[in-house]
Amino acid sequence: MTKPVHIIGGGLAGSEAAWQVACRGIPVVLHEMRPQRTTAAHKTGALAELVCSNSFRSDDAETNAIGLLHAEMRRLDSLVLRAGDANQVPAGGALAVDREGFAAAVTAALEAHPHIDVRREEIAGLPPEAWDSVIIATGPLTSPALADAVRSLTGETELAFFDAIAPIVHRESIDLSVAWFQSRYDKMGPGGTGADYINCPLDAPQYAAFVQTLVSGDKIAFHEWEASTPYFDGCLPIEVIAERGPETLRYGPMKPVGLTNPHRPDEKPYAVVQLRQDNKLGTLFNMVGFQTKLKHGEQVRIFRTIPGLQRAEFARLGGLHRNTFLNAPKLLDPILRLKAMPRLRFAGQITGCEGYVESAAVGLLAGRFAAAERLGEPITLPPPTTAHGALLAHITGGHVEIMEPGPRSFQPMNVNFGLFPPLSSVPTRGAAGERLRGTAKTAAKKRALSARALADLERWIAGAPLDVAAE
Ligand SMILES: Cc1cc2nc3c(=O)[nH]c(=O)nc-3n(C[C@H](O)[C@H](O)[C@H](O)COP(=O)(O)OP(=O)(O)OC[C@H]3O[C@@H](n4cnc5c(N)ncnc54)[C@H](O)[C@@H]3O)c2cc1C
Repeated sequence: MTKPVHIIGGGLAGSEAAWQVACRGIPVVLHEMRPQRTTAAHKTGALAELVCSNSFRSDDAETNAIGLLHAEMRRLDSLVLRAGDANQVPAGGALAVDREGFAAAVTAALEAHPHIDVRREEIAGLPPEAWDSVIIATGPLTSPALADAVRSLTGETELAFFDAIAPIVHRESIDLSVAWFQSRYDKMGPGGTGADYINCPLDAPQYAAFVQTLVSGDKIAFHEWEASTPYFDGCLPIEVIAERGPETLRYGPMKPVGLTNPHRPDEKPYAVVQLRQDNKLGTLFNMVGFQTKLKHGEQVRIFRTIPGLQRAEFARLGGLHRNTFLNAPKLLDPILRLKAMPRLRFAGQITGCEGYVESAAVGLLAGRFAAAERLGEPITLPPPTTAHGALLAHITGGHVEIMEPGPRSFQPMNVNFGLFPPLSSVPTRGAAGERLRGTAKTAAKKRALSARALADLERWIAGAPLDVAAE
């Protein structure tokens, strides 16, 4: 008798993981606490319930990283994508689903599977020692008893309860004829170079106008249950700091000290916005201290008034909401196991990915890894050039900690092309030999990244060695 893999949490990640394990002939016990016990966001007892929007976002596999992730998941026999496709509702280029039909299809497939035993119970502490292979996929609203138990293993500071997200900008969209690289006081810091930050200078009138726009910008309100979640005081939204007084930001995240603008060395900036490198590839930069409750459209409008960011492209926008997630790059090994207790593997949003589809994709990988382990087969990681591999690399090691270690430094993220290794050669000409510029050039680059991803995924599935030169 093969011992079962225990999966805790039947949301997007846990449901996908259960499917992947069971389809390899291995028994699964799926423990889901609903409907007996629920969360502040779930409304039903269905597995894979969508708690908010009914969209899996763009289905464009050529020029959109989430669409590429869809395509890869279909290729990897994802239950979530199969049920999504079967319950699609019209939504232009997006894959949107009938939420009840979708959750019912996932629930029916799992309950009918001969290798899956669905148990409706909360796991209110560390899983029993007899469970030698466990996937914890309890999501951003993990029940408090289990969150406490996990925190006892990881340490107080390594499990966040609030997601205080600052916007992340694609480096290539930052104007370095205005902004410049420098760390405050040229400090090297652990693992730093002395020039790890990108600095955007504001003069006094620009600063005053910026503060005014922040204060009057359109904001999203807190849910009642978010407002009462602990750890909120430590991560004030930027617009709340601005409301405390016109000069407060200059003494906080926008302080101009220890910096000299090489473009105008004789002029001291009145205030400075700093961006810190966010991934090892150096393609993404994080606006330091800029967590915000401004609406997304407002963030783009307001942050593009900052000198140097006038054409900024955002890999993700800021936010602040209840979200339980691990400091995964530090705590998890490359196959998603807790280093301190490798019988426990994590999947879904609790690992620091963001979004329904990303959570399911990490569940898919966790399921495949657990199944291979149980069968004694070698585990090969998806290539980092694929959407699955890029996401996994972000969670298990792609993020860099420079000056602000800890879970606040690692922020959950949707899949985006900034997480992919750059192409060795970027297309410069179109099909007719014309020189590509602007959006046409960006689209051609995305197409090339997607084509490389799908080709590498096929090689991974076939177990063939990767030919990195074949881009
Ligand atoms: C309020 C809110 C709105 C969101 N809106 C969106 C959105 O619109 N679009 C989007 O793409 N993403 C959204 N997200 C983010 C994220 O994509 C979803 O939360 C997604 O469902 C995460 O998948 P998951 O499998 O990790 O967790 P979940 O889907 O939440 O699944 C976790 C499951 O674990 C169960 N559980 C928890 N603790 C225990 C326990 N101790 N024992 C047994 N079972 C347990 C829960 O009941 C739940 O079924 C939202 C998140 C939140 C909190």
